[in-house]
Amino acid sequence: MKLLVTGGAGFIGSNFIHYILAQRDWEVINLDKLTYAGNLENLSDIEKHPGYRFIRGDITDNKLVDDIFSQYKPEIVINFAAESHVDRSIENASPFITTNIAGTQVLLEASRRYGVEKYVQVSTDEVYGSLDEVNGFFTEDTPLAPNSPYSASKASADLLCRAYYKTYQLPVVVTRCSNNFGPYQFPEKLIPLVITNALDNKQVPVYGDGMNVRDWIHVLDHCYGLKLALEKGVPGEVYNIGGGTQVSNLELIKKILYLVGRPESLITYVKDRPGHDKRYAINPDKISEELGWKLSFDFDDAIAQTVNWYISNKPWWVRVKSGEYQEYYSRWYGSV
Ligand code: NAD
Repeated sequence: MKLLVTGGAGFIGSNFIHYILAQRDWEVINLDKLTYAGNLENLSDIEKHPGYRFIRGDITDNKLVDDIFSQYKPEIVINFAAESHVDRSIENASPFITTNIAGTQVLLEASRRYGVEKYVQVSTDEVYGSLDEVNGFFTEDTPLAPNSPYSASKASADLLCRAYYKTYQLPVVVTRCSNNFGPYQFPEKLIPLVITNALDNKQVPVYGDGMNVRDWIHVLDHCYGLKLALEKGVPGEVYNIGGGTQVSNLELIKKILYLVGRPESLITYVKDRPGHDKRYAINPDKISEELGWKLSFDFDDAIAQTVNWYISNKPWWVRVKSGEYQEYYSRWYGSV
């Protein structure tokens, strides 16, 4: 099977490529623009794998995407490519609209023209908006109510996927996963930010009162759900993935500081993120019952493993945190 993976040099995409090439005899074409978040170092061990090919390019480039479909004839498409950081979408929504919405349409259109067997859109629970402090879970029937430019752009892409299924019967499956963590995550995201700042004995910023709750999942549990969606997902359906552990940002930060062996005095409260969603919690019953998905990582073990990965891979994150990241960090957090 030939698989076109877009955004495969980012955090989840690179974990997915490792995961899928270790499982089956897939042929993977990785199309990635290599934005600040894309890093070929994440894939250096499989560079020469006979079933792997990298193409640097933009999913919004109609001509390039058409050429790739015409030359390689992928049978399955899985779209990870996105601008993915909420805070950056608050600073400047424009690239989120271009890549996440227009780019998805380019991929859907090429998939339609060339007749793929399955198109998987990797989406997020953030499209559902926010839950109140204590009640309920997101199901696939929860209305879309995105609150950030990032989540609005992802929700728009989900709706385009729905339209391509309804209008053209393109076999599209949408997955909506909760917050991922694990190796190769760009350190602007909460867990690697806390680990790497703590390792550097730097302050650890926490938004507002730190009581926002997220539903955390190890990236490989997400990859397992994506593999099932790709192999067995029913066209036109949406599958939520997550439901691991709900924990407040503050509790999570304290857990990581303990694991890294740094004092809680590093915690520094900063002004809350505008439009900050209070709580996310996923009900994953549909993918569990219909596709046989289940979690395999215990949260505490997985956090400890992740902390150890960042300890052992310091050169990776020191390189990633230099340059553009420094500028972004001081723009966003000031002197923290
Ligand atoms: P990431 O920011 O680490 O990686 C994004 C990748 O997409 C990068 O390699 C980047 O170079 C590439 N890219 C960006 N714009 C592109 C373009 N125009 N053309 C081609 N490539 C482009 O993101 P991630 O955390 O790995 O997330 C991957 C996908 O999963 C995203 O669609 C995101 O919305 C979704 N998702 C993420 C999470 C999470 O917790 N990280 C949870 C649910 C869903």
